[in-house]
Order: sequence, then C-alpha cells, then structure tokens
Amino acid sequence: MAKEKIAVLGGGVGSMSAVWALTSEPNWQDKYDITVYQLGWRLGGKGASGRGPDGRIQEHGLHIWMGFYENAFRVMRQAFTELQGEPRVYQSVEDAFKPQNKIGVMEHIDGEWHPWVIPFPKLPGKPGDGDPMQYTSVLQMVEAAIKDLLGMIKMLLEGQDRAAPKPKSMAAGAKAWLKDHLKIAEGSAVHAAERMLDKLPDNWHENDDHHEHVNTVLTHALEQIDSHTALERDASPKELEQSNLLRRLGIVFDLGKATFWGLLLNRRKIKSEGLDVFDDLDLQDFFKKYGAKPQNYEVSQSAAVRAFYDLVFGYEQGDPTKPNFAASAALRSIFSILLLYKNSVFMKMRAGMGDTIFAPLHKGLVKRGVKFEFFHKVTDMTLEDLGDGQHAVGKLQFDVQATLKNGTYDPYVNVEGLDCWPQAPLTDQLIEGDKILKGPSGDGTQGWDGNWKGFDLEDFWSGWDDPATKELVRGVDFDRVILGIPPASHPFICPDLVANNPAWQNMVAKVASVRTQAMQMWMKSPIYGLGWPYGSSVVDAFQQPMNTWADMTHLINRESWPVSASLGSIAYFCGPMPGGIPDPNKRNVTEKATADVLETGNTWLKSAPGAIWPNAADANGALDKAELVRGVSTTGTGTLTGQYWRANVSPSERYVMSLAGTTKDRLHADGSGLSNLIFAGDWTNNTFNAGCVEASVMSGLFASNALAGWPLKSDIQTYW
Ligand SMILES: Cc1cc2nc3c(=O)[nH]c(=O)nc-3n(C[C@H](O)[C@H](O)[C@H](O)COP(=O)(O)OP(=O)(O)OC[C@H]3O[C@@H](n4cnc5c(N)ncnc54)[C@H](O)[C@@H]3O)c2cc1C
Repeated sequence: MAKEKIAVLGGGVGSMSAVWALTSEPNWQDKYDITVYQLGWRLGGKGASGRGPDGRIQEHGLHIWMGFYENAFRVMRQAFTELQGEPRVYQSVEDAFKPQNKIGVMEHIDGEWHPWVIPFPKLPGKPGDGDPMQYTSVLQMVEAAIKDLLGMIKMLLEGQDRAAPKPKSMAAGAKAWLKDHLKIAEGSAVHAAERMLDKLPDNWHENDDHHEHVNTVLTHALEQIDSHTALERDASPKELEQSNLLRRLGIVFDLGKATFWGLLLNRRKIKSEGLDVFDDLDLQDFFKKYGAKPQNYEVSQSAAVRAFYDLVFGYEQGDPTKPNFAASAALRSIFSILLLYKNSVFMKMRAGMGDTIFAPLHKGLVKRGVKFEFFHKVTDMTLEDLGDGQHAVGKLQFDVQATLKNGTYDPYVNVEGLDCWPQAPLTDQLIEGDKILKGPSGDGTQGWDGNWKGFDLEDFWSGWDDPATKELVRGVDFDRVILGIPPASHPFICPDLVANNPAWQNMVAKVASVRTQAMQMWMKSPIYGLGWPYGSSVVDAFQQPMNTWADMTHLINRESWPVSASLGSIAYFCGPMPGGIPDPNKRNVTEKATADVLETGNTWLKSAPGAIWPNAADANGALDKAELVRGVSTTGTGTLTGQYWRANVSPSERYVMSLAGTTKDRLHADGSGLSNLIFAGDWTNNTFNAGCVEASVMSGLFASNALAGWPLKSDIQTYW
C-alpha cells in the first residue's frame, strides 16, 4: 500500500504534538511519510527560544509550565525516554524541569504595592505520570473546592508564616487575633461552615435545601471576616499585617463563594455542556453575576483576579483598560491550576523552552523518521474542486528563504553541554549567509549586541528577498496537510481556503490575538540582595505593561557568562502590547515595535522595581542601572547591557486570546471543510481553549485523532 504523504505546516507546540502522536502509533512508517515545513531556522513558534551573546537564553517571553499539564508532560516523558543515552539533551522531566511553588500577586492599595506570595503545597504524583487526575466532574470538584476553600484559608495563614519577614510572631499574632476576634475555634461562622461541610451527604449538590444552607453559612462567615477586616484597616503596622491576612481571606472566600454559587445554580446545564455554559460572560461579569464584591472581582482593584487576566494577556488590543477573558476558559484554567496539579503548581524549564522542549521533540522525531525542511515559508495554499461539493487543498506554495550549502541543516549550537537553538540562523551553512547576516542596513556583522541586526527570517516584514520558491502538488508531493499556523496568518497564507468556508471566516474574524512584549535582565545582586524576601517566585498583577515577573536565576549555570560578569540573578518580565497587524508591504514594523519595548521597559524601570527590589531602587522606585550586568561577550564583540527586549508582533507570534463568547467560533481539528486539511494549534477548539502549552498539545492530539484515529479521544486528558 502506498504511504500517505503528510505535509505539516509550521513547527509550534500544536503541530509538533500532532506529529509526535501520529508517529507514536506502532508501525506508523508503513502508513505515513511526514515532512514538517518551518519558516526560518528553528522550531517552537511562540515558544521558540534562541541563544545569544554569552550563551544567554532569549525567549519570546516568560514560559512556565503548570503542574496540571498532563498531556504535555506525557509527550515530554515519552520523548525523553526515547532519547535516553543521547548526548547534549535532557534525559527526563525531572532533569528538565524545576518545581516552582511560590506564586504571588502584587496588590495595589492606596498607591502602594503589597506582595501577596503563597507557597503552594507539594501534592502527590508527577505531572504526566498517566495516573488519573483527582477530579473527573465539575460537581465532584465543586464539593472538593468548597472544602478546599477552608484548606486554602489555612494555607494562606501558614503561607504567610513561612514567607513573611517575621514569620513566627506574625503567624502567632494572626492566629491569636483570629481566635480572639473570630472565635474560629468554637462557635464561629467559619468554624460552623467547616463542620457543616464535613457533614454534607455525598449527593448534597442535588438538593436545593443543602445549597441554601451552604450559601447561608458561607455568607455569614464572610460577613464576619469582612467586619473585622474593615475594623483593622487603619490600625498599627502589626495589626495591619493581620488585617492584610483577613482581607485576603475575605477575597478568597468571596470569590470562592460566588464561584460555588454560579456552579451550583447551573449544575444541570454544566452536566451536558461543561463550563462552556459560562462562555458568554467575561470572568469579572461571572463573579459579579454570582454575588462577589466589586473590590474583589474588578481587574482594576483585585490583584487576585487581575492575575488570571495577566496570565493570558487578556486585554483587548493589548489595552490594560480592556480586560476580557471568557469565564468558561478562565474557570477551567483556575480550577486546573489550583486543584489538579501533581507535585508542584508551576514547573520552570531548566534551560530555554527551545532547548528543553523543541530540541528533544525535534531529535526524537528525526530519530523516528520524520523529515524537517527549515527555511520554508508558506505563501499560499490553493483550493481544488473535487466535484460533488467537495474541496481539498490542491497546492502548497513556499518561499524558500535560504539555500543550504550541503543540502542539510544542522540547527544547533552547543552551550554548556546542551544542544540549543541559536537566536539567528547559522549563516555559515547557508549560501546566502553573508547577506542574511549583514541585514537591511548592510552592517549587521556584529549582530550580537543584544538584538540581531541581520535579516530576521521569522519577521513578517523582514524585507528579505527569498532566493527561491517551491510548489507542492496534491497527489504527487503530499496527500494530507496539518495546518499548525494560527488564524492571524490565514488571510495572508490561505485566503481562498478561508473564503470557501463561512465557519472558517468566522473563526478568523472572532478568535482574536494580541501583541506581547518581554524584557529579560541579568543582574549583579542575588534575589535576596535586591530586597525581595520571599525567595525565587513568579509574580503577576504587577504594574502594567510588564505585569508579570519571574525569577529565573536557576538558568545562570545553563548560560556561559564569564566569571567576571559576576551574575547574581536573572529576571524575566512580560505583558501585553498594543497594536494591530500592519500591511505586509510595510517595512521596519518589528524594528519599531522592538524599539518601543525598550522605551516602555526603561520607563517602567523608572518606577516599578522599588516595589520588588527595594535595595536596588531609589526613592521613586527607579532601578539602579548599575545592577545590570555589563560584560564583554565571549561570542562576539561589544559591551553587553545585561538586558534583552522583544516585541512579538508578526501575525503568528501574536498570543491567541479567549474572549467572552468566542468558544463557539473556534473550529475543531477536522473543521476546515476540506477533505485533506486538519488544524493543530491553541486556536482550535481543543476543549481547554485558553492559550497555553497544554491546550496546544491537546489540539495536536485531537489533530492526530482526526487524521489517523490515534490516539483515542478517550486517551486524551480533558478538563471538565
Ligand atoms: C509571550 C508569551 C508567553 C507565553 N507564556 C506561556 C506560559 O508561560 N505557559 C504556557 O503554557 N503558555 C504560554 N504561552 C502560550 C504558548 O506559547 C502558546 O499557546 C503555544 O506556543 C502555541 O503553539 P501553537 O502551535 O498553537 O502556535 P505557534 O507557536 O504560533 O506555532 C506556529 C508555527 O508556525 C510557524 N509559521 C508561522 N508562519 C509560517 C509560515 N508562513 N510558513 C511556515 N511556518 C510558519 C511558526 O514559526 C511556528 O513554528 C505564551 C505565549 C506568548 C506569546
């Protein structure tokens, strides 16, 4: 039997997971001949990273995995297992990831920032171990969540105990205060709630009387907490600390109660439709509708809620005053993050995302027999009429961006013993290498002073004159296609296919995307020296637009800075960025946006750092720039500033949003309306539907299922 030729367009998480799943089927090589066509010199798309001067890691933005990413970790466990014994690549999830359990938000109260850092407990299991997730239905989870609410309150108090500067006295004080004022031990509403929940029968959620009862007790508990919080607002510093605890307790309680109430009132519909019953509501509107207080749910006031918008760049057109995150996807994300993780709530990669994820996937797939064509930019996909109302992709058109000197391309550089993707193509392997290196200005040969000065082959507006074109024909060069390039690019690469299908047109119009921006800093002082007392943390809900900060100091040993650079810590920041998609014929769009990020970032550095790094900032909060590492690059020339900044503005680099009311506009993997085209990417209806690695991997598994019936849908972990 002739093998089916599969052309995979784009090498992001979605399409790479699809190929991984397809080639996991025993004897896949008897059935398929698979080639991946990727723009530029590396895999990874929005998750790609590259090595720059001194081997420093340069990301699209902060990338962190979550402990609940069951599908994604399963894929990585398989890849690492198959690469056992291979040099210059991680060998296990445990090697490649570092648990991160301190997560914080920055509360902005009366003009001042207050860190609220929670050390999440270690939970049983390992992400991707294949063991069943703890909860399988929303209602089962609701019940657990209500109980967890009280658990969380305890955690909050214990968390402060471990994290705050004067732990013992404060925790002891807080507990004594609670005992005195709330009489939590006996007879208090909080205590009554706890006891009442323990006594509920198994089928309590089916009985409206129980709901009323639960709601009444929780409301009383909340009122009790709130009255004491209000009393303590203007008290002494010690009392204020205690008041902070109670206020936070009140926020968690209020949002938890509203969530619980919303789920209970909709439980019958949830049984059939899942959390998508809330799709038309923005998360803030959900909390409002089910009784939460404005100060606790409004993005402008509540760090606890803003944190989830920041997590998904959930601001229309990148405007911080326009938060929008569908309650369906938001609740799914919140429940999964908080309740489903195994081992650690977050997992940090121990090198760049390219080195940790895409190098093993690439090497594993090459080993399995998949072919890769780098420097292949899709420019058009043409529609073929098969008769009887059937259509297919007839031809694929590419610009070939560079000619390989030896017919093959070895994409890696060795940094500290690990195979890594460089930040730019390895031009000595390319016939047009010199021209690419020199760039539009003709003087890019130095290239390593932070941002690449050569032609950027990933840039939509690069101005690079591609040396060749290529055409692939259905039935000759390919039979089926996996499209792993996101909708913001579709009007440019496949307008005829989109025009042929109203549902596809609708998806392109409604499933929005947003620019993002990122800044990385290499600093002299370690994190405690900078004045952050909580240890290595990931923090968001901070000052816009660089609203998210992660300490990434663990990467120091993976980079090759000279000892003289005296590196003490590494910090990553990112956030949304305003702006649309300018005309393809424009030039310097990305250069201008990149300059804007530097300017925005440096303005931000004049006021924000004081709140997290008081020892390295002046009275206005401005960072002492002497903190930035300055060293002479070992890989090139020039003085380094210890700073890297990036604008993600090309259509396919824009983050895919989950706006309220748009889940129905997403198409499933098999929704193209064409007989030979399957979709893979975080933009499809993958049942998770919030832009993240796990959703992308799920989309890939569904794509493989649509193409080959493998894996079974029942083997894909879904989330309510
Ligand atoms: C700044 C930022 C931070 C993020 N942080 C996190 C995080 O911490 N945790 C998390 O889980 N998720 C995070 N995400 C989301 C995550 O990165 C995405 O969900 C995921 O990478 C999407 O994968 P994809 O395969 O759907 O699309 P993409 O990654 O966009 O893949 C598309 C692929 O197509 C290629 N391509 C584009 N145009 C063409 C063309 N014309 N021809 C050929 N190839 C082409 C691209 O190069 C790319 O390889 C973040 C995203 C951003 C932007």
